[in-house]
Formats: sequence, structure tokens, C-alpha cells
Amino acid sequence: MKKIRDELFELKNSPLYEYRTQNKFFPVVGEGSHDAKIMFVGEAPGRNEAKTGRPFCGAAGKVLDELLTSVKIPRESVYITNIVKDRPPENRDPKPEEIEIYGPLLDRQIEIIQPKIICALGRYAMGYIMQKFGLDLQIEPIGKAHGKAFDAEASYGPIKIVILYHPCVAVYNYSKIGDLKKDFEILKKI
Ligand code: URA
Repeated sequence: MKKIRDELFELKNSPLYEYRTQNKFFPVVGEGSHDAKIMFVGEAPGRNEAKTGRPFCGAAGKVLDELLTSVKIPRESVYITNIVKDRPPENRDPKPEEIEIYGPLLDRQIEIIQPKIICALGRYAMGYIMQKFGLDLQIEPIGKAHGKAFDAEASYGPIKIVILYHPCVAVYNYSKIGDLKKDFEILKKI
């Protein structure tokens, strides 16, 4: 994981490298237990995350914390990361070429941690993770897919892929928190 972090700091071929250095931002590797059974994969760091180098430490992170608390899963027991590990300007959506550059780093993190459950937060994480695990044909719009779990096979054994709304949904509209909490219940069941 340290090697991944070092490579990330030196990722000069990333289209986001210059923006990172110009703004004195940090890349965001990920955070949490390296023995985690559950891994959360978000989209890309926001401003707070890029300022601190920590995933989900801003408004979306507060929502994620609330969701984890609602199912009594300690944040320290899981691993939290993103597909794209540098902040895109103005929080725009990640571009395919960015996902292509950062995706292999996420793949290696999955091999290191070997989680039993990967929770994809939002449509970008859903698309990447479902494709990676051969679930392409079952990809649906996030409004339909959220709250569903899929069985898949990782190099190290069976794995569940859980599709969840991105916590940002409740940042923009807090009345949605109930729907997000309901989806998180699936983690208790699994
Ligand atoms: N949104 C994300 O997708 N990831 C973060 O780390 C923060 C906000």
C-alpha cells in the first residue's frame, strides 16, 4: 500500500497531476483497516479530501459516517477509497481517461485488502466495479441498482458487490437520508 501511495505521489502522467501540485493538494490513497472485510469505493476526492489527503472527510464523509453508525459498523473497521485519487477541477465528473489511469491502483488495493464485500458508492464506482467483476450485463441506472447485491468471484475467492447511492445525494437533499440508510441495512444482512 505504501508503494501505491508513493507511485500516486509521482503520477505525473495523470491529467490531474498539474492541478494537484498547483493547488498544493494531496492525492487520496484511501484510509482504514488493511484487513477490512468491507471496502467502500467512491468517485474522486472533493476539496476537503484533496486538502487533507483523507477520503470522505468533508460533507459527504459526514453522511457516510452517519450511514455507518446507523448499521453499527465502525469506520476504522472498513477501508474507504475512490476510483480516481486526485481531485478533478470544480468537482466535475471523472473522465474515462482518468478512470483508466487510476483504476489499476484501485485493482491493486483490492488485491491487498481482499475484502469480502465491495460497496460501490454512486454510478462511477458502480460502473467500474461491476465491469471489473464481469457484471457488465447487469449494470442499470443507479436509481434502479441502489440497494442491490451481486455475487462475484475475485482472484482470492467469492465476493459480494453492493451498489449504494453516493453519500452526496444526502448532502444535496438531506430528506433522502432515510433511503440511503435503508440501503445500508443490506450490509447487516450480508
Ligand atoms: N466524494 C467522493 O466520491 N470521495 C470522497 O473522498 C469525497 C467525496
